Amino acid sequence: MATTPQSGPERTSAPAPDAVAVDVERVRADIAELAAYCEPDEPGSTRRVFRDAHRSGRVWLAARMAEAGLEVETDGAGNLIGSRKGRGAPGAVVTGSHTDTVRGGGRYDGILGVLGGLEAARALAAAGIGLDHDLQVVDFLGEEPNDWGLSCVGSRGVTGGLTRADLDRTDAQGRTLAQALTDFGRAPETAISGRWPSPHAFVELHIEQGPVLELADRVIGVVTGIVGVHRVLVEFSGRRDHAGTLPMDQRHDAACAAAELILAVESLAQGGGGVGTTGRVEVEPGAMNVVPDRARVWVELRSIDPGWVVERRDAALAAATEAASRRGVGLSVDVLCDEAPTPMDPQVRDAIDAAARAAGIEPLELASGAEHDTRQIARIGRSGMIFVPSLDGRSHCLEEWTDPAHIAAGVRVLAATLVRLDRLPPPTPGAAR
Ligand SMILES: [Zn+2]
Repeated sequence: MATTPQSGPERTSAPAPDAVAVDVERVRADIAELAAYCEPDEPGSTRRVFRDAHRSGRVWLAARMAEAGLEVETDGAGNLIGSRKGRGAPGAVVTGSHTDTVRGGGRYDGILGVLGGLEAARALAAAGIGLDHDLQVVDFLGEEPNDWGLSCVGSRGVTGGLTRADLDRTDAQGRTLAQALTDFGRAPETAISGRWPSPHAFVELHIEQGPVLELADRVIGVVTGIVGVHRVLVEFSGRRDHAGTLPMDQRHDAACAAAELILAVESLAQGGGGVGTTGRVEVEPGAMNVVPDRARVWVELRSIDPGWVVERRDAALAAATEAASRRGVGLSVDVLCDEAPTPMDPQVRDAIDAAARAAGIEPLELASGAEHDTRQIARIGRSGMIFVPSLDGRSHCLEEWTDPAHIAAGVRVLAATLVRLDRLPPPTPGAAR
């Protein structure tokens, strides 16, 4: 009887990646331990970038990575990386997220992606599954918006997205970002010049931070893309008059024109496809007995569909222009941000989808309405994201919570996805955004 030739004995004899056992209690214990590194004077488990709690939390994390047999280093942009050598294939299979939080943030945002990545690395090792590529688990530096008005410091730094002008930004005390990096033990020069080579593939596990998975009763989300963000400042200029003496039909009230824009944005964004928010409004002079002569409205539109954003923006500005001219009020528009959507790589999406289905989970495709480090990494390599549900869709608050069973499913799908990504052929050069 002829024997079947084996092309890759290590592979064919290795356990099936979808059967990798993850230890969810170990992940929960890690989450609880890291949560103890928090700012004593702030609510919940606050761990803002560069502060003492963030720094000491990272010392703990580095030790945890080393215990798992990972080689630990911090790169030029301040990202903490735990690596396990592969069988020499070029480029690394990378996963990770962030351990910094917003003020009053929760225990899961970002943290699950780092500690879940660590558990995936431990679980693969325990199952005897080695990878062709190096495996890296990353804690990206400073993902949340910081005192310098910048987010994703570390992931921007390694993808060419951090500039000298960013380093010169100052916080409320006049301290530059460059100084903060220096105090954190990173040379600012290397933070902007230390580009990563293109990874073989990248995947980030994250809580959804919204209600879509929960409402659909699904446990795993395959992210289709990160939404585009369009922000404009609309300024209305009317006429300042006495609120007691000027008849209603003779007013040029800037605040009333602004109110029409606010409601137009809400109305235009109905029906799905995207969201519209006017989260900041200023009215001058801000006195009860004065007809306002100036009003500023910050409009934000987000959608995975760039056409949706353009259509709503144009319609909102048309409504504002009509309201202004009817009221005899001037109007100016300043575009503040126009970030295109970031589609996730089809091969990474397929790998997540297949890993979930092999684990008996039917995943749901959804867009990410929030920013993530993955947006930056997608500039240099094929990238994707796995979402798990957030209880009541809550995030950036103390109530942030993800069910242990959903954590287990997320980490298990992450581990199996990493194996599937390892087996992808090399990426086509220049395929990244
Ligand atoms: Zn996050």
